[in-house]
Amino acid sequence: MPEKGIDQTLLGARITKQINIQIANQLNTGILVVDAQLTIIVWNRFLQVHTGKKSENVLEQSIFSVFPELPVRWLSRKLNSVLQLNTPSFCSWEQRHHLFNLPHTRPITTDSDFMAQNCTFLPIVTDTNDSYICILIEDVTDVCHYQTQLKKALAELAKINRIDGLTQIYNRRHWQKSLEQEYAKARRHDKKLSLIMLDLDHFKLFNDNYGHQCGDMVLIEVSALISTLLRVEDIFGRYGGEEFAIILPETDLSGAIELAQRICGRVSALALTYKEQNVKVTASLGVAQLGEQEQSYEALISQADAALYQAKAQGRNKVFSNQCSSTLAVG
Ligand code: GH3
Ligand code: MG
Ligand code: MG
Repeated sequence: MPEKGIDQTLLGARITKQINIQIANQLNTGILVVDAQLTIIVWNRFLQVHTGKKSENVLEQSIFSVFPELPVRWLSRKLNSVLQLNTPSFCSWEQRHHLFNLPHTRPITTDSDFMAQNCTFLPIVTDTNDSYICILIEDVTDVCHYQTQLKKALAELAKINRIDGLTQIYNRRHWQKSLEQEYAKARRHDKKLSLIMLDLDHFKLFNDNYGHQCGDMVLIEVSALISTLLRVEDIFGRYGGEEFAIILPETDLSGAIELAQRICGRVSALALTYKEQNVKVTASLGVAQLGEQEQSYEALISQADAALYQAKAQGRNKVFSNQCSSTLAVG
């Protein structure tokens, strides 16, 4: 019921003010109003709860003395432009994780001890033409946390898509896609391109003798060894089981054979131990260079594969190329 004898307009204004204050105090958003000198004049309950500072201790204080962590130059410039242009401004957690050092209250483990924040800066001009800025501080810790988790999961997925789980080199799908691209590049720019296919010798027997786990260890060690012998632009992948493949951009046949021989020699010299047993492994390698007759990257694979088959037929632990004038290069 309206009180008798009180101007209805004044009463309306008083009620509106009380409603505004109650709304401001119940919102789950920080509301901070500063005047043109950046002195705090409004401080809602959210801020009181999250800073542990009561309004009587912060009102009439400079925003920079209450929050000494604030970037003075950056924020002063931002607030001045809000005042001068009379337009709102925004700062998201993706630009700055947080502006105010407010601890977050989530039980989840996050990368930061502080609440991630979206801050909005609103210009306010009163009917007496005084200017203020209302700063809204929104707690977006959950959004930030889940977005970060999602980014990590997507990066992990992208990696799984490209990398072989056992050997940590490229898987066949990614390797083949790379070959398709390198083939197109070589054709377009009339560049050389060579390929090495490598297959471990009698690996079935090896597994039978030493066990599958020992075989896995050998696959890992051989991959790691070969990786150290390559240039950054070479593309090394696991083609399948115990078969590997290397794309050598801008490399001619003799360069590729030289590398294949080095790999063949280093694999056979690899001193490995498994459960206190010394184990030995050898590899056969087929080499091919892209020529005029190969009309697709698949044709280049077939050439290298045929050479690999010959290296096996010639007794294994060998390098072979159908295109080499001396026909056979022994590892
Ligand atoms: P060759 O000299 O003619 O290549 O003989 P091979 O025994 O190596 O060839 P084959 O194709 O008969 O056997 C390949 C073996 O490689 C059989 C398979 O168990 C083994 N192999 C394939 N993938 C893996 C793997 O991830 N781990 C282990 N430990 N062995 C594997
Ligand atoms: Mg084999
Ligand atoms: Mg094989």
